[in-house]
Amino acid sequence: MTTRYDALVVGARCAGAATAMLMARKGMRVLLLDRGAYGTDTLSTHALMRGGVLQLARWGVLPRIVAAGTPAVRRTSFHYGAEEIAIDLRAADGVEALYAPRRSLLDAVLVDAAVEAGVEVRHGEIVFALERSDGRVIGAATLDATGKRQEIAADLVIGADGVGSAVARLVEAPMLREARHASATVFGYWSGIGTEGYHWHYVPGASTGAIPTNAGLHCVFVSVPPSTYRARFRGAPGPAFEATLREVSPALAARVEGGVRAGAPAVFAGRRGFFRQAFGPGWALVGDAGYFKDPITAHGITDALRDAEAVAEAAAQGTPAAFAAYAETRDALSLPLFEATDAIAAFDWDLPRVQALHKALNQAMKQEVAHMLAAQRGVLPEAA
Ligand SMILES: Cc1cc2nc3c(=O)[nH]c(=O)nc-3n(C[C@H](O)[C@H](O)[C@H](O)COP(=O)(O)OP(=O)(O)OC[C@H]3O[C@@H](n4cnc5c(N)ncnc54)[C@H](O)[C@@H]3O)c2cc1C
Repeated sequence: MTTRYDALVVGARCAGAATAMLMARKGMRVLLLDRGAYGTDTLSTHALMRGGVLQLARWGVLPRIVAAGTPAVRRTSFHYGAEEIAIDLRAADGVEALYAPRRSLLDAVLVDAAVEAGVEVRHGEIVFALERSDGRVIGAATLDATGKRQEIAADLVIGADGVGSAVARLVEAPMLREARHASATVFGYWSGIGTEGYHWHYVPGASTGAIPTNAGLHCVFVSVPPSTYRARFRGAPGPAFEATLREVSPALAARVEGGVRAGAPAVFAGRRGFFRQAFGPGWALVGDAGYFKDPITAHGITDALRDAEAVAEAAAQGTPAAFAAYAETRDALSLPLFEATDAIAAFDWDLPRVQALHKALNQAMKQEVAHMLAAQRGVLPEAA
């Protein structure tokens, strides 16, 4: 082993790049690795909620998202059957609008900010094993694109490597809680749709939505329970997508039919949410690696950006108590979001019930934002 790092972060997307950036800003020597390529897309729609935009604004990276032409979202419309409830965004705390940047943009902007903070970044390098001493993780073994093996020494290894986290598997991170439901999502991109703001539509048994994003495109998705997903999407996803869209929102379906499709639809067949133990000796998990919930509430990126700050703070303090505080905060803020999301993903609701679940979600998001603002003011209790 040659260079020793204060922290090795595995996974260079929203969770990992943000965590690495924040640790480097605290003076830590950080290596950020990803097996994938810089500036690429991933299987995800990408609507940010207030908390996510707040973090980007606080860290000074939001102007780059705006400068890239990401459209401002100032209104969110919930459609329960034929009833529409539109909510205008209240500008506060540096959040003037919401945004839904493509992941190829968001993740790259965060990697760039990490590099500027002093992080060493390597793409095309995969972590396949961890090094241990006396039960503590002290580094990792990697393979680069040429097949060259390297050993990396680090006081802390952070798994920000997504739902199938290799770090979580290698440390055998205990599963603390699992969701009961999982929805399937099919989404694609269209130009010429002409709607403004976020639109979320619900009918019993299915939902859909339209999210404005870069390059004049809208991301349009449909979500259904896995049971009907198998029946609906047995053949090519395109016709089933259009049929489901017409069923949930004939108006949005008409707009999509009048638009121009950009690329083939992407399919996420569903995966039940979970909480994994957030840390152990010499390791921690952040983002989807540690806590995943159904994408039906479009909240994973926001939570990853929230937790990046908390785990970076724990890493800078470096004590078991600081990591315990990170885990407690993650779980306390996430549980109400997780429960409401699981209930929505069940698709066993009627329209008043899903509306009530959205109100619960909104309360949980307010708590999350209040926590981030308190962290900004430095009024959170310090871990001992
Ligand atoms: C269909 C769908 C729609 C979604 N829509 C939304 C939405 O609208 N809004 C929202 O907020 N969230 C949404 N989400 C959730 C969101 O995509 C995730 O919460 C988010 O991607 C988590 O980011 P992450 O950085 O933790 O992990 P990821 O984005 O999964 O990144 C993990 C990275 O780790 C790398 N990696 C993995 N293993 C290794 C290894 N062994 N060595 C090196 N590198 C490795 C991968 O290459 C990858 O780049 C959606 C998810 C899905 C599936």
